[in-house]
Amino acid sequence: LLEINHMKKGFDGTGVLEDISLSVKEGEVVSIIGPSGSGKSTLLRCATMLEKMDGGELKYMGEAAAWEESGKCVYAGKQKLKEIHKHFGLVFQSFNLFPHYSVMKNITDAPISVDKVSKKEAEERALKLLKQLGLEEKKDAYPYQLSGGQQQRVSIARALALQPKILFFDEPTSALDPELTGEVLRVIKELAKEHMTMIIVTHEMQFAKELSDRIVFMEQGLIQQEGTPEEIFTAPNERVREFIGKFT
Ligand code: ATP
Ligand code: MG
Repeated sequence: LLEINHMKKGFDGTGVLEDISLSVKEGEVVSIIGPSGSGKSTLLRCATMLEKMDGGELKYMGEAAAWEESGKCVYAGKQKLKEIHKHFGLVFQSFNLFPHYSVMKNITDAPISVDKVSKKEAEERALKLLKQLGLEEKKDAYPYQLSGGQQQRVSIARALALQPKILFFDEPTSALDPELTGEVLRVIKELAKEHMTMIIVTHEMQFAKELSDRIVFMEQGLIQQEGTPEEIFTAPNERVREFIGKFT
């Protein structure tokens, strides 16, 4: 579904991603862990084309979004990128809802304006999602009237409304109070049960362990270890052991 080959990215001559290769199959849940500054967000930003990579290859559903040509990274044309964009959704640490839009409008805005879905259908879809996420009665509320956990569930609904094939999360609970973290993690677990393909950057080790098919440990712009939760937690390499140790 997603294929990243030898992705490289630096800022002002400082390498952040040195050489990242990662592929994700349909229905897989992959967690990315690693110390602060190791390039996890940069990896997600490059994979979702919020940031241009310097080198390497990026493919969705077997179609190239970017590739290397005579030492340079080239992106596909506008139309192709637009199609590729439809394959994924992104949920940020800070919920990024439109403050002046109701919950309903936050969710239906992109399907109506980007996907050309009718207002009626977009609202039906949104209601179904809100029900699923336990937010039905909040459809007319504004973001400031919601708790952080509710806001984050709305941003998950907003991403799902575009019916992506793959969903990226960048530390979806790190801006939340501990008592609100659970409700968001529960929603993500539900999605995993429904076999939603997801890539999740997280510091929630227990969550990553329970939910992931695969865990990727990043440090210094490289994948230092990758494996099933069993492999990572029972046979961590030295660096991973040290990192995980900080959380227990
Ligand atoms: P955290 O766990 O704290 O979120 P991270 O693993 O997500 O960390 P990144 O945000 O990817 O780390 O940052 C990796 C490195 O890239 C950092 O040293 C950061 O300062 C640098 N960096 C990220 N974005 C930019 C940018 N737009 N311009 C310059 N440097 C950047
Ligand atoms: Mg980050």
